[in-house]
Amino acid sequence: VAAALVFGLAACGGDSGGDGGGGGGDGEAAGKVGVILPDTESSVRWENFDRPYLEAAFEEAGVEYDIQNAEGDAQRQATIAEQMITEGATVLAIVNLDSASGAQIQEQAAAEGVQTIDYDRLTLGGTAEYYVSFDNVAVGRLQGEGLAQCLEENGVTQGNIAFLNGSPDDNNATLFSQGAHEVLDEMTQYTQVAEQAVPDWDNQQAATIFEQMYTQAGGNIQGVLAANDGLANSVIQILERNNAAGAANVTGQDATVEGLQNILAGDQCMTVYKSIREEANALAELAIALINGEEAETTGTVEDTEAGREVPSILLEPVSIFRDNVSDVVEDEFVTAEELCTGEF
Ligand code: BGC
Repeated sequence: VAAALVFGLAACGGDSGGDGGGGGGDGEAAGKVGVILPDTESSVRWENFDRPYLEAAFEEAGVEYDIQNAEGDAQRQATIAEQMITEGATVLAIVNLDSASGAQIQEQAAAEGVQTIDYDRLTLGGTAEYYVSFDNVAVGRLQGEGLAQCLEENGVTQGNIAFLNGSPDDNNATLFSQGAHEVLDEMTQYTQVAEQAVPDWDNQQAATIFEQMYTQAGGNIQGVLAANDGLANSVIQILERNNAAGAANVTGQDATVEGLQNILAGDQCMTVYKSIREEANALAELAIALINGEEAETTGTVEDTEAGREVPSILLEPVSIFRDNVSDVVEDEFVTAEELCTGEF
């Protein structure tokens, strides 16, 4: 019903656009780009969004490419990197699984004359020529502000909040939490009763961790800063199991179909939309610049505190999505109304 209200009944019956993937890509530029995505479990984004958008961007640019997935295994990521280099990759982009293993891959690549790009996650102590991502502290700030807004709108003038952070191995998770704390630490009306990081962003572990938080707080939690939509969904499941569906305001990130449906159903307060199409396009542009030995346009630099260097970066702007602007994500053709309307509302 909610979906029908938001989009109109006609939209729910309409047909979907859908983004197809691409094929092999036979390049005009003299070089080949390898991209290694991190896993298939921590978020649906990597296979459902990043891969097809990257394929489309490389196809359009006429660049030869190979996109693979490390399946959550750092050793596997290193092996794939080696294979890609053997098979002629001249630029390698990785979404690291942790900074140490990412730095090792980049060092090895450099030794073999291959240039590297950090995609989405910064490799601390790494040697990437470029970093392309979103302003990740801003993502956290939007989550913090979003949570405060939902609490206020629901008349919670005072209450308990819990933090369910992303993987301790992911520099982004640190930045998300930093941004959220910048906002929420100021709001003394909300008591921070629990905070824990979820290893590998694992949704099952997230459910276990949140269940413990919830039990320890005697169910007295009004807000949950969940770092992405997957973690948010785990929280929602635990709330449901405790007959407390919708009782706490829960944040998210990635604007996944599941996350947006949870928002429409009133179980999730907000999500953060990051245009992965733009992120993928930015990566493709940087890779092509490297192949052509040109300098690419960047938006600034990001400090790698471990390596003590400034990494030339492209950082994109994230956007808050609440129930009343879910349609923005549809208008941006990130998800279709039809996909959203299959939910049980
Ligand atoms: C990404 C998020 C994603 C998370 C889990 C983060 O590094 O920025 O978009 O939800 O990893 O894969």
